[in-house]
Amino acid sequence: MRIRVEGFSDVPVVLSAQEPIADFPALLDVQEAGECTFLEPLHLDFTIYKEFRQIRVHGHVSTKVRLACSRCLIAFETDLESDFTIFYSNATEMPIEEEVSLTAEDLISAPYVGDYIDFTSEIEEQVLLEIPYKPLCHEECKGICVKCGADLNSGECGCDRSGTGLAFSALKNFTVK
Ligand SMILES: [Zn+2]
Ligand SMILES: [Zn+2]
Repeated sequence: MRIRVEGFSDVPVVLSAQEPIADFPALLDVQEAGECTFLEPLHLDFTIYKEFRQIRVHGHVSTKVRLACSRCLIAFETDLESDFTIFYSNATEMPIEEEVSLTAEDLISAPYVGDYIDFTSEIEEQVLLEIPYKPLCHEECKGICVKCGADLNSGECGCDRSGTGLAFSALKNFTVK
């Protein structure tokens, strides 16, 4: 997703867009890896203005995904959304070292080259950060029985897990990151 830099001033411009997931290679990658399925395009809202020699972008991105619960393995749908601020500087005017030191902060700094700002990689990053590492269908998900594999959310299966419960929870603390 690109916009032309020319024409922005200190007067904020508001832009809204819907962009297909197909335009975001990093998001297609996680989808193909089976981490999540995108159910909607990205809904994007931007407020853009020029501040000194930088283009300042306040953005909001939202979409809907299907994830598999890490405890009970059942698929569920959830909304992802993120607010972000990015300062874009003309790459030819700004030394690289300055950009690196800025990225350590909350605000994202990114270069643009030529007459266009390409938002793609910054938007991808924001969305990827919102995908939970261990998705849960709900906070209280009871998971599946370690003995019979029954979904414990739909009721107690009757297995005696008094021995296995402890081993299982101890194991969970040593999950490979
Ligand atoms: Zn679950
Ligand atoms: Zn069971």
